[in-house]
Amino acid sequence: MKVIKVNTRQREEFVDITPEVESVVRESKIKEGVCFIFSPHTTAGITINENADPSVKRDLLNHLKKIVPFSGDYSHSEGNADAHIKASLLGNSLAVLIEGGNLVLGTWQGIYFCEFDGPRQRKVYVYFLPAFK
Ligand code: ZN
Repeated sequence: MKVIKVNTRQREEFVDITPEVESVVRESKIKEGVCFIFSPHTTAGITINENADPSVKRDLLNHLKKIVPFSGDYSHSEGNADAHIKASLLGNSLAVLIEGGNLVLGTWQGIYFCEFDGPRQRKVYVYFLPAFK
């Protein structure tokens, strides 16, 4: 298992971790298989979306804020209930195929670490399963 460290700089932020995951895939020397990407945090998520036009991640963040506002009728007393809800909406893991030693992603797709309660130092675990032939 490999660990990618992500230093987030704002309370809410999408960090493109595609280059870091790609370099872990290259180091693994796995040519065909599955790459599992897991965030061990309860107030951050992982998602795949467009990384070409930065307005897409801005829209995602702004609309998540509208769906789940910072303050509301929450029971959780830590003051980060919205972050827990957003983390569950996006999920905390991904499985991405590997072919020819590369991640199989669409032209406009990138892998985002989604911070909802930063800034913090975060971790992302990456694990591989080689394909059977
Ligand atoms: Zn909390």
